[in-house]
Amino acid sequence: MEQFKSFDITILGGGHAGLEAAWAANQFNLSVAIVTMPGVGLGSAPCNPAVGGVGKGQVVREIDAMGGLMGRLADLAGIQYRTLNESKGYAVQSTRVQIDKEKYSEFAERIIEESEITVIREKVLSVEKDPSGYFCLYGDKQNIKTSFLIVTTGTFLNGVLHTGEDITDGGRVGISQSPGMKELFSNIKTLKKRFKTGTPPRIKRHSIDFSKMEAQPSDTGSLNFHYDHSANSRNLKQVDCFLTRTNPKTLGIIRENKERSPIFNGQIQGVGPRYCPSIEDKAFRYEDRNVHHVFVEPEGLDIDSFYPNGISTSLPKEIQLEFLRTIDGLEKAEIDVFGYAVEYDVVDTLNMKRTLEHDSFEGLYFAGQVCGTSGYEEAGGQGLIAGFNAALKAKGKDPLILPRELSYIGVMIEDLVTNERDEPYRLFTARSENRLYIREDNSIERLFNFRESLELNSEVDYHNRKFIEAKVALENLCDETHYLPNRENRELFENMGLGGLKEKTTLTEVLKRSHIDPILTLKRILANSGITADDRLIRTVAITIKYRGYIAREEIENASLNKLENKTLEWKSLLDNSNLSFECKQRISKIKPETFGQLKRIEGIRPATLAFVASTL
Ligand SMILES: Cc1cc2nc3c(=O)[nH]c(=O)nc-3n(C[C@H](O)[C@H](O)[C@H](O)COP(=O)(O)OP(=O)(O)OC[C@H]3O[C@@H](n4cnc5c(N)ncnc54)[C@H](O)[C@@H]3O)c2cc1C
Repeated sequence: MEQFKSFDITILGGGHAGLEAAWAANQFNLSVAIVTMPGVGLGSAPCNPAVGGVGKGQVVREIDAMGGLMGRLADLAGIQYRTLNESKGYAVQSTRVQIDKEKYSEFAERIIEESEITVIREKVLSVEKDPSGYFCLYGDKQNIKTSFLIVTTGTFLNGVLHTGEDITDGGRVGISQSPGMKELFSNIKTLKKRFKTGTPPRIKRHSIDFSKMEAQPSDTGSLNFHYDHSANSRNLKQVDCFLTRTNPKTLGIIRENKERSPIFNGQIQGVGPRYCPSIEDKAFRYEDRNVHHVFVEPEGLDIDSFYPNGISTSLPKEIQLEFLRTIDGLEKAEIDVFGYAVEYDVVDTLNMKRTLEHDSFEGLYFAGQVCGTSGYEEAGGQGLIAGFNAALKAKGKDPLILPRELSYIGVMIEDLVTNERDEPYRLFTARSENRLYIREDNSIERLFNFRESLELNSEVDYHNRKFIEAKVALENLCDETHYLPNRENRELFENMGLGGLKEKTTLTEVLKRSHIDPILTLKRILANSGITADDRLIRTVAITIKYRGYIAREEIENASLNKLENKTLEWKSLLDNSNLSFECKQRISKIKPETFGQLKRIEGIRPATLAFVASTL
């Protein structure tokens, strides 16, 4: 070792966690570097070419409100938009954007290139520490010395890939694994159990018969993620995704080959994500079900392959092809890249602070899949927190902690650092006790004070302030505008389908009426009065008004749950109860909580379960 490049903050890994960490840290006038494997694009998507989804869209908007990158990149590369859960309440509605995965990474490369961040494309072989900082070693001569190190190595740490009987070392297909970095990890606890995740085979475009599938066009009404992009005009051409289904033949082939499945024949020991099961898991977990959705999604506008979402697999190649060809529209499927599973090491997040700094190693942070989570958005959210906190510490400032009552990022990080990790973690709305409040539409309002506390005063801060001012003004307008029960107003109410008008009624009261769509109504009333407003602002104000009463009730319910902290309970009796999910029962039988407070702190125990148990005490 002869020569070092020195940086204040270095990020090991240029995936979704690494990108956000670097972008966040770079806002503080510090020298920042990303060191990442050659051959892997920045922010590349090794699995599903999509950003957002239930619980995850909320995180993307939180990242955006905090000045992060993911929402901006998703809009730039978005080729199909949808609002999921549209038939359900606004709190659980989420935006999901199909992305052109090559363009996503190209935009990421371009944005980082135009910034002050240094990108070093080397495979780090070991990490060492001395009192002056951390050293990332990748060659004999050129190495990195850094005061703060953020490790975001994803699925690469001692990664092993499985397709049938084929076992190879790797972090993802075609890319080598990350070495164990023994010098660093001899002192840092990794979980005894390795984790695993899988991906489906990619299918060549010309071999798919789309006429046998249901087309799902892009939704023009879904709102873009990034604050500085207009509400719903798109950067790229929009294309369809398609829906088809498995059938008894498909599942029959999988079931006949159980002994050749690395997940079931003992070859894979790692634990997979409960909420992202492989098609083998589905075949054996739900033996009476043969029909599962398969969403056939483009990987990009000019990319020749499609991603069949819902059938990730590590079965041998010939079996993958056989079962795939039983599915409507895929009878002549040709495979571009076969499906596989990856097993990897994960750090024990119980040894980390809520800033994502390690308890015993000052200046060392971890973020992303290496912390046992699964998903781009979860990785991005952690990267943002680790990046900001490393920079704040470098500047001698107070840490940034997002509380769980106000953000999904806060929910995730608190879950990570307070619960033993026994399976890959992913976010969904049921993990939050406050989900009526922590919605997609109000992310700026929820995080405004936290972004302001960074004292960065940049473009996003200017935008956030303007947005909050406009929100307050529009809410006041709704509270103050009233309709007297005269003929003219009655006609207006009738024409707009707003219901009867018997007494003086404010616009706020109208928007709360149960039978009307508050967003559409507010939009039309503003248009009638010649007031123009951004669709995002209208949505936020309409939902905020609609939810005022529900949120007040949620707060009262949460307060009454808190009072039950020391109440004892019979945990065994809960296991026979049909109101509790399988996951809740599994966790209760493992932890054996004796009080309501203990039950409440078990990760994966849903708020609905707590409400039910409380009603029995
Ligand atoms: C096969 C597969 C299946 C997946 N399935 C799903 C799924 O079903 N659902 C889901 O939500 N998510 C899935 N994912 C996970 C998703 O890819 C991750 O959640 C997300 O990419 C994590 O982001 P990250 O930044 O933590 O890690 P990554 O995006 O993996 O980035 C890690 C980065 O670290 C770099 N790196 C690693 N080691 C070194 C080193 N020694 N030196 C230099 N650079 C290094 C790599 O080059 C890479 O840039 C899957 C991933 C894979 C590989």
